[in-house]
Amino acid sequence: MSTGFTESDGGDFALPPAKPCGDCSLCCKILRINVLEKPAGVWCRHFAKGVGCQVHSASPHECRRFQCYWTISEVLGEEWRPDRSKLVIWSNVEGRIIVDVDPSHPNAWRREPYHSQLRTWSDRDRPLPLEVLVRIKERMLVIFPEGEVDLGPQQTECSISSGYHVEGGRKTPYARFVEARA
Ligand code: SF4
Ligand code: SF4
Repeated sequence: MSTGFTESDGGDFALPPAKPCGDCSLCCKILRINVLEKPAGVWCRHFAKGVGCQVHSASPHECRRFQCYWTISEVLGEEWRPDRSKLVIWSNVEGRIIVDVDPSHPNAWRREPYHSQLRTWSDRDRPLPLEVLVRIKERMLVIFPEGEVDLGPQQTECSISSGYHVEGGRKTPYARFVEARA
């Protein structure tokens, strides 16, 4: 599977939210918002605890169109709510999910039930195979049922290629950054 990876300006879902965000505001911390020059993993300067976004109607398009999967999925229960799981799951391209981890809880994705579920989703033999990326601030990992491939710091100008090498009937997962096509 080789798909371009650049920081998206947010998810782009046609579906209406199934659940309200409630008290969760984790995407205001986790995501990089280019237009605000907000780096990933730090609270936005417009966010106030107990208040939320202070520029609500004037918030950037990137913010207003963003929906994490928890809000649109009926199958992700309360334990997956981002402010509880410390994981914001979204996508910027078909066939991929990005699991952005709260850097204050860098091992949250290794806890259960999350770790097992991420591995299950990453099974490329499923009818709709998914590339599952875990990102902890700028560090990127590609998840496989057998384990993960740690790509190290994200290379924003690059795509990610991942899949399996098959040799002598043995499958070995691989993932690497590849130069994005112009
Ligand atoms: S992370 Fe998801 S649930 Fe939390 S505020 Fe953002 S969109 Fe809403
Ligand atoms: S502008 Fe508002 S919605 Fe956007 S990241 Fe900042 S606090 Fe969150």
